[in-house]
Amino acid sequence: MKVHEYQAKEVLRKFGVQTPRGLICRNLNEVPSALDELGGNLWVVKAQIHAGGRGKGGGVRVVRSKEDAIQAAGQILGMSLVTPQTGPEGQTVRRLLIEEGLPIASEIYAGMVVDRQNQQVVLMVSPEGGMEIEEVAAESPEKIHKVRVSPTEGLTRGEAERAAKFAGIPDSLADQAVDLLQGLYQAFWNHDASLAEINPLVVTDDGRVVALDAKFNFDDSGLFRQPAIVSYRDLDEELPAEIDASNVGLSYIELDGNIGCLVNGAGLAMATMDIIKLYGGEPANFLDVGGGASTEQVTAAFRIMLANENVKAVLVNIFGGIMRCDVIAEGLVTALSQFDSAVPVVVRLEGTNVEIGREILKDSGLKLIAAGTMDDAAQKVVKAAGLS
Ligand code: ADP
Ligand code: MG
Repeated sequence: MKVHEYQAKEVLRKFGVQTPRGLICRNLNEVPSALDELGGNLWVVKAQIHAGGRGKGGGVRVVRSKEDAIQAAGQILGMSLVTPQTGPEGQTVRRLLIEEGLPIASEIYAGMVVDRQNQQVVLMVSPEGGMEIEEVAAESPEKIHKVRVSPTEGLTRGEAERAAKFAGIPDSLADQAVDLLQGLYQAFWNHDASLAEINPLVVTDDGRVVALDAKFNFDDSGLFRQPAIVSYRDLDEELPAEIDASNVGLSYIELDGNIGCLVNGAGLAMATMDIIKLYGGEPANFLDVGGGASTEQVTAAFRIMLANENVKAVLVNIFGGIMRCDVIAEGLVTALSQFDSAVPVVVRLEGTNVEIGREILKDSGLKLIAAGTMDDAAQKVVKAAGLS
């Protein structure tokens, strides 16, 4: 799950990380009083969307007068902001963060990810603040310092000090840098984060070490024990189909292709997408109905897939292990009878009671294309979509 920058900063502040003071505005009327409350003579107007690279797209403006701030706010709020991380259609800006502007002496990169191979959190720092870390990694990997953090000890003082030194933070500010990096680690660890980025982390002219930008992604599997994070969810930033799917417990990710896939189990879903590609098709989505494949879920899955105009054919590939194929077939028939759609549906069932399941599908009167093996199913669906 993603959150906005201002929410990420709220989390970080609870762990003692310094951030600029800021206020959130949802409409233009709130802007003048926010500027007054922050005071000073330098402000930053920042679009809040679930994507980075906002500065490049005109979504971050540093301004020196209240008039300029109000004008910038008017331009940014409601705009369709296109950044290297949004699609070409952009993302509508519905919230603004108005912050005090800080005098920046240097910009640094700090990020954290979970290294699955080593089962550890990795801290990465670089003196190349403001740049995309992927670019730095490709062009000058020697400018990135990595620390694998021990899950039992956490980020130690020594590790944080060495990271700060590598990033070019002056020794006189080492204590502040250590507080920031340890706070970042604690926030990451305590909230089941999967990714965090402070880009840039800045040293100011007056000797402060501050998180100027903040990004957090949280592991969906940990959300059941993170109510504070769940309360940050902003449905405006999510695709309607993905919200619909998560409400009935489906894992659904929309893709660019035109073959809808309805599969139980993430591994089988991946294999199904692979084999569709092997036979020259392109999957329109990843969709895992889980082990159960209940009628309610299958119905929702069809509603979601058929709402996608790119979908030219659907492949249902279900393995009845715990759930029997006859039960799944009954569910499929009930679900499919609710839709009046011309999109061809190829069905491959395998597992317990598969013969009974196939009979049920055959007797249903629905126009389904039955398939035996994975190869057979993939070839049939690619053909049905008019691709071969
Ligand atoms: P994004 O990464 O989405 O482009 P950032 O929050 O990193 O957005 O902002 C882009 C740039 O704007 C920063 O690298 C920094 O130079 C400047 N900036 C952002 N916030 C402030 C601030 N509070 N004070 C001064 N400059 C800022
Ligand atoms: Mg940034």
